[in-house]
Amino acid sequence: MRIRLRQNLHNHTVFSDGRHTPAQLIEEAIRAGLNGLGLSDHFFTRKVFHQVDLSGWCATVLPQYLRVARELQALEFENLRVWCGLEIDSCFDRIGTDLSGLPWNDLNQLDYLLFEYVGEAGHGGMPLERLTDLHQHCRVPVILAHPDPAQWEETLPIDRAFAIVRECGVAVELPGGIRNPRRWDPRDAARLACVPLTIGCDTHESIADVGAIDGVLRFLENHDLVDRLTDPDRLGPPRGGNE
Ligand SMILES: [Zn+2]
Repeated sequence: MRIRLRQNLHNHTVFSDGRHTPAQLIEEAIRAGLNGLGLSDHFFTRKVFHQVDLSGWCATVLPQYLRVARELQALEFENLRVWCGLEIDSCFDRIGTDLSGLPWNDLNQLDYLLFEYVGEAGHGGMPLERLTDLHQHCRVPVILAHPDPAQWEETLPIDRAFAIVRECGVAVELPGGIRNPRRWDPRDAARLACVPLTIGCDTHESIADVGAIDGVLRFLENHDLVDRLTDPDRLGPPRGGNE
């Protein structure tokens, strides 16, 4: 299947802390000429949801979100592929359960998952090494949301960190939009060339973020990384590592 180059796989809707509905994001993606759009609302985390706990969220928001995901999975748009995922906070204190306690039967119905703060001890995220455990539960592609290589380096040599990412077959998100800083520079190009890449703008408030990917595309083109770009149709579920 053709890679969706003009993609943005990181967008929030009114199901979590985004301002717009899924339909508004899709409309904007079409207007902005994207050919791949991912909805990636927050899975339960105390950072975002203050009125409910994990079990309350799983009993109310999650079934509604999965229903919308199923409806969108059944739709076809002429020049746009739409995927539905969720963004999981890898700080398990904020979620209220460990990896093994997540509702995998539900999560595995989605098209992909974003994990944020992996390898970022400063944000309470799970260690990068724990990516090797994902294959026991997860049957859908995984993308590391707005990763921060400077934080990875605080606990692991950077080459070891990238080796884990590569072995586990998870993708690295390159941030477009205004919310997340551009943490990658030309010196990182050789490392990025060894892992699958995606683009994500982390759309929350500004609808213009949906299509704000041109800076990332230029970075990919300038560093010969375009063919590293993947999408949830091409990226498989996580592997166990050391393979
Ligand atoms: Zn996000």
